[in-house]
Amino acid sequence: MGPYLYDSHCHLSPYCLAVDGLGSTIDNDSSVCQMALMSTNHFDMELVLQLARSSASSQVIIPCIGVHPWYSHLFAANGTVSHEDHYLGVIKSSESISPSFLQKLPAPVSFPSHMTRMEQQITKLLQDGSRKVVIVGEIGIDKLFRIPWSGFLGNTEARYNKTGDNDKDNENNNSDTKILTTVPPLSPYRVSMDHQLYIFKEQLALAWRTQLPISVHCVKAHGLIYDTIMEFITSNKKHAPTTTIPAICLHSYTGSVDSAKRWVSKKTREKLGKKTKVFFSFSKVLNCPDSDISEQGTGSDISKQIIASDTSKPGTDSDASKPGTNSGSLKNCYSKSETEFIKLVQMLPEDTILIETDLSIDKYYNGTNQSQHSCDLQAVLRQICNIKGWSLDQGTTVLNDNWNKFKGEA
Ligand SMILES: [Zn+2]
Repeated sequence: MGPYLYDSHCHLSPYCLAVDGLGSTIDNDSSVCQMALMSTNHFDMELVLQLARSSASSQVIIPCIGVHPWYSHLFAANGTVSHEDHYLGVIKSSESISPSFLQKLPAPVSFPSHMTRMEQQITKLLQDGSRKVVIVGEIGIDKLFRIPWSGFLGNTEARYNKTGDNDKDNENNNSDTKILTTVPPLSPYRVSMDHQLYIFKEQLALAWRTQLPISVHCVKAHGLIYDTIMEFITSNKKHAPTTTIPAICLHSYTGSVDSAKRWVSKKTREKLGKKTKVFFSFSKVLNCPDSDISEQGTGSDISKQIIASDTSKPGTDSDASKPGTNSGSLKNCYSKSETEFIKLVQMLPEDTILIETDLSIDKYYNGTNQSQHSCDLQAVLRQICNIKGWSLDQGTTVLNDNWNKFKGEA
């Protein structure tokens, strides 16, 4: 047995349509003791809930309920708005929006209704008594993301035409996987920052009401995310001083050392109060791409590839780079920031660091890659231990303590 390992942020692949059997595979084969399984939209939320409820995996899977910024355009603040008015209102583009693209977008989902459903599900999960924690995630802001031409990541015919015929479903799955092992073509269209902020703030309010930790996605908006969260917590504290969001995880953190310093400063900690802890989570794919473990076989997440192919300079809050420049491999993008990553980990207080994969667990466990999950986590663990000058045992202890603190269990 290797060290006790957890994954503070993982997913189902955007093309995963069913999780039957996955729970027991995880229960039997995983050397990862706990995984925070993020939902990103109304489709995968149902799968996350199914896995969390399956008795086999209920101790391993921590359900995370939220709407990711990459799916924010699918939700409407006003449930009665027309299809066209909604999408023309939330999509930002310097060019006019192609009618054939608009047609691919599904009927918008009322966000207030979806919020109610999320809150009900959270309450139910917590009431069943077997779990103490649910996480609000993945939520956040992304200044670089562009909507795929398909309308959203994971938009497949199979999603709408479930026949119950297994063979047919499998066929669909396979062809999807074949087509989409590369980055799906991206449109020049972005989701307006106003709309992303609306979706994000509503979910901060959800975390506040349920007093649950959050797992936050942020790309090129590190100043904005800091201001938004700080403003939300400090203004709400005025009315309800004993309530709070107990933990904030800035997952796969790609901000600058200076942005991170702001989060861990005395001033910020005072403003947040003792009851709110801030964590930075690191993954092999984004944060330590040059680590020595082979990447073969993990089927590295499509979502990560989108970020990687679009991110030239992690760490700045600058405006999104020109659309259409899809250059650079994962390694090239991040090799420049390798020294930045080392500086960051050196600077961070030891009680703020978490580890994650940000990858799809169905890919790990539906094939022969089970052991790859713990290998990927160990790669980050070792990298952090090297930078901090910790022994593996010491690092494991510290990072596990942090995980328990994040969940509010320490
Ligand atoms: Zn994620």
